[in-house]
Amino acid sequence: MSGYLLTNCAAAIVDEGDGLRVRRNVDLLTVGSAISAIGVDIARDALPAGTEVQDASGWFVYPGLVNTHHHFFQCFVRNRADLDWTKLSVIEWLDRIYPIFSQLTEACFYQSSLTAMAELIKHGCTTAFDHQYNFPRHAGTQLIDRQFEAADLLGMRFHAGRGGNTLPKSEGSTIPDEMLETTDAFIADCARLIDRYHDARPFSMRQVVVAPCQPVNCYRETFAESVSLARDRGVMLHTHVGEGESPVMQARHGRRTVDYLEELGFAGPDTFYAHCWELTHDELRTMARSGTGVSHCPEPVYLVGAEVTDLPAMSAFGLRLGLGCDGAASNDNSNLMHCLHSAYMLQCLVSSRRAHPVPSPVDFLRYGTSGGASLLGRSDIGRLAPGMAADLFAIDTRRMDYVGTRHDPLSLIARVGIGAPVDMTMINGRIVWQNGEFPGLDEAQMAADAEAALANVAF
Ligand SMILES: [Zn+2]
Repeated sequence: MSGYLLTNCAAAIVDEGDGLRVRRNVDLLTVGSAISAIGVDIARDALPAGTEVQDASGWFVYPGLVNTHHHFFQCFVRNRADLDWTKLSVIEWLDRIYPIFSQLTEACFYQSSLTAMAELIKHGCTTAFDHQYNFPRHAGTQLIDRQFEAADLLGMRFHAGRGGNTLPKSEGSTIPDEMLETTDAFIADCARLIDRYHDARPFSMRQVVVAPCQPVNCYRETFAESVSLARDRGVMLHTHVGEGESPVMQARHGRRTVDYLEELGFAGPDTFYAHCWELTHDELRTMARSGTGVSHCPEPVYLVGAEVTDLPAMSAFGLRLGLGCDGAASNDNSNLMHCLHSAYMLQCLVSSRRAHPVPSPVDFLRYGTSGGASLLGRSDIGRLAPGMAADLFAIDTRRMDYVGTRHDPLSLIARVGIGAPVDMTMINGRIVWQNGEFPGLDEAQMAADAEAALANVAF
């Protein structure tokens, strides 16, 4: 069984069940998929056969980041002048972007997944959840299957959110007809994907989440049947909540989104919502009572110019919190490391207007690691400790970028920000990114193939 001994790490950010803390000048040993030991001077003469020794002097070693909200397919609409949030209303933006989304081919879904996951891995992310809700009829039925294939190629731990929309525009949704599904078809494909891919065992690399896109674009039965399926099969639930739709839900159903979902049972410790920036304190307390988690995506808050998510209140009420990039339609990067920094800065900006204190930089590191793991229902990832999955990344701090910053490794990412790709990313005990390369893969060729898939779609 192969493994690695990282020797003399300048700092390892460990959590052995008692909170995040820094251990300086320690060794870290992995065996197979797991962290085996973290300590001073692990005996070199008693290592398991096949262990590779790497000098980690100068490295800060962190638990791998866990991304809890994304839409990989949107990578192909980045950096377009005609999709400028500051010049468009949400409706105008939707009218422009959905015709683009509906043209994507199966190859686009595969290549955009590779594109997003490659960027995530370069910046220390080791587990990715994707909310794939775009199923244009011409693109076929294998889009999430192709995402699992892309994750396998890169070695990414992947949780696939099977999204979908069922309500036609004629009944008030914003979804073009060619992207609509029936509830039966949606539920049947969720069941198929769970049967084929969902692995609930420790160190699982593949899980499936039932994730109808958002209540405002689906029939009530779609959400009710999602709850039944997920509870029956023991998988997680996810959807978009509190990003401007609550007044529409109030007018349509007589209750805002949080109450609507609570009534349906689409809430609980097995459920996490994305965004939640427009929620009242009462709604946040309701979610805290049911154990429902929040994936906070800071970048769309900047772009949309909406209410700033009240993370201090969420934290004070005991909500489980994780971080997400969100899709490239409302965040032009797939860099969760950057989002961890921007999430902290965003809260500082409005701190004087808050009833509760801004969570600390260390809290933001926790949201991006063990917090995300909690949202995904995982107790085997998100922390560096013996017995946990060997998911980690390393930053060589012997660079000008880090001079004067090494006092506090716990706060480095949130306060300083990490501008460049990390020096090493390990997932499930395998190094998938090191020294600027994906070992065994040709990045230039992958980029060319992705551009070629994009070029075949006439936007
Ligand atoms: Zn989203």
